[in-house]
Amino acid sequence: MALVSAKEMCAKAKAGHYAVGQFNINNLEWTKAILEVAQEKQSPVILGVSEGAGKYMGGYDAVVGMVNGLIKDLGITVPVALHLDHGSYEGCYKCIKAGFSSVMFDGSHFPFEENLAKTTELVHVTSQLGLSLEAEVGAIGGEEDGVVGQGECADPAECKTIADLGVSILAAGIGNIHGKYPENWAGLSFETLDAIQQQTGDMPLVLHGGTGIPADQVKKAIELGVAKVNVNTECQLAFAKGVREYIEAGKDLEGKGFDPRKLLAPGVAEMKKTVIEKMELFGSVGQA
Ligand SMILES: [Zn+2]
Repeated sequence: MALVSAKEMCAKAKAGHYAVGQFNINNLEWTKAILEVAQEKQSPVILGVSEGAGKYMGGYDAVVGMVNGLIKDLGITVPVALHLDHGSYEGCYKCIKAGFSSVMFDGSHFPFEENLAKTTELVHVTSQLGLSLEAEVGAIGGEEDGVVGQGECADPAECKTIADLGVSILAAGIGNIHGKYPENWAGLSFETLDAIQQQTGDMPLVLHGGTGIPADQVKKAIELGVAKVNVNTECQLAFAKGVREYIEAGKDLEGKGFDPRKLLAPGVAEMKKTVIEKMELFGSVGQA
């Protein structure tokens, strides 16, 4: 099955009161693991690629080639979107050219008028090509940026303005943060989410920084209109745990335990467990 836009799968998720997971990929092992789980669980899936991860994998053409090749060779039949995560204006065009089926334009750091102008232009380009576009209002902070306590909350009126441009999915800050949450984190602002949902109607909303948000808060966010949840750090932690245990047990020193296919396998196994848990939590299992 060819890559599909994330628009329909997220619209369907919003109507069905569940969410589709975006799992970020870093290499072949991750991509294969996420696709295999999605197929096994009959779940739609969004493969997220940050600009840094795209560069790490050699470039966007390499990513598209790898993903399309795996979909074909593994016989993947569930809907898969290949999505640029937190794209710059230039990055969006590069990914569109390379064959991504979805892009996020993160114009949240621009003055609102500039975010609006650039998002408007990208709405036209992506809709003509049948691709999905995610926009962001209200920057989503990260612990690495020194943000503590609570992430930014988006202005619901600004969310409506951007939603009305015709974007496919909308990321809005509701107190969420990227990476591990600090101990003094105030939790998600459901008041903000509810106000955004009221203003934007059917627009599928995106929850970034899914790692470490308690399951009950994620479920409540989905009830209030979130139809896409991004997961990245949690997979990284699971993968590192698996590989660490293997090496700490000295297994890389036994026989051919140094073979990268053996060395990375426990990391993949741990990561797959995380992806399954998330798909179950989001309610996307069986929705392909
Ligand atoms: Zn994000």
